[in-house]
Amino acid sequence: MKTYKIALIKGDGIGPEIIDEAVKVLDAVASCCDLEFSYEEALMGGCAYDITGDPLPQETINISLNSDAVLFGAIGGSKWDNLPREKRPESGLLRFRKELGVYANLRPANVFDELINASSLKPEVIKGVDLMVVRELIGGIYFGEPKGRDENKGWNTMVYTREEIVRIAHQAFKIAMNRSKRVCSIDKANVLDVSQLWREVVIEVSKEYPEVELTHMYVDNAAMQLIRDPRQFDVMLTGNIFGDILSDEASMLSGSIGLLPSASVGAKIGVYEPIHGSAPDIAGQGVANPIATILSASMMLRYALDEHKAADKIDAAVKRALKEGYRTKDLAQYDAKEVCSTSEMGSIIANYAAK
Ligand code: NAD
Repeated sequence: MKTYKIALIKGDGIGPEIIDEAVKVLDAVASCCDLEFSYEEALMGGCAYDITGDPLPQETINISLNSDAVLFGAIGGSKWDNLPREKRPESGLLRFRKELGVYANLRPANVFDELINASSLKPEVIKGVDLMVVRELIGGIYFGEPKGRDENKGWNTMVYTREEIVRIAHQAFKIAMNRSKRVCSIDKANVLDVSQLWREVVIEVSKEYPEVELTHMYVDNAAMQLIRDPRQFDVMLTGNIFGDILSDEASMLSGSIGLLPSASVGAKIGVYEPIHGSAPDIAGQGVANPIATILSASMMLRYALDEHKAADKIDAAVKRALKEGYRTKDLAQYDAKEVCSTSEMGSIIANYAAK
């Protein structure tokens, strides 16, 4: 039996509800794949600030670095919005990513045939969509200096170094090699100097992957093309802010932000988390969709632990639950056979995954 140490960071809002369901599903596949998970919980976000005065206590970094992978819920909420910037939950998350060196955020967006009517786009536009946004995560405008504000002015700086672009570009090309061998690099090279360097370096790196077809697209056009004809994309390589926005847009191809997982990887430990936030508007009501977090647990098994059989079981269990017509409230207006609570959906998927 293989044993893995998983750091659990539940966070704020719906974070604890959705992580509990992912753990339920992990334990279900563990029993049938001869695996054992030992979990250690760590605090981050508003709940960490309330208890320790710091949204990212050092202990959380230590627990994470001492584990095989981190499963993360979500942080944030209006309760903490007026704190000084460095005390806010979001600052803790940015610092966490930097401390763990997770520079690449992988965000798959697939359309489940079972949910083809859940998207606001026409079925014929989205059927078969299967793309991966590879977003740079610890550079760009969210981290660049100088930044600041006074009463009449606010400023941030978009910076990328050659080294940062090289490593994220390698990630995108390597992923493309295992997919349809197409990378579309998204930038704003017609206006931004930082994007001109981005494009130059991506072209250099592409020479090491002659089998992969590289194209470039300006970010404004990419936002439009994602809605017009999303099937044209395989791997979308982007910087931090462009990827943040485009991957939320891509999530709507699938029908709900509650469906999409992500993996943040780098030199050290990987962090596996849904792409959505802490959804304070629905927290505590038992209506959050746990599927994005459950699929993040599956990505954790696949990318961090190399446990492909267990990951396949989870993916198949999610598909089966959707096929059988089970829907959480976010998807319930479309052809639901049965509307489930967060915990009912987790139990149904865990039950299928255990078989
Ligand atoms: P959000 O993603 O939390 O919510 C956007 C909308 O999607 C809301 O209507 C919400 O109810 C819905 N939604 C989100 N996840 C859902 C799920 N699993 N099931 C059903 N519906 C779901 O984004 P927001 O409202 O802009 O931000 C709320 C808080 O989350 C803010 O404090 C923000 O800073 C934080 N946030 C955190 C992360 C993170 O922890 N990685 C990411 C984004 C936002």
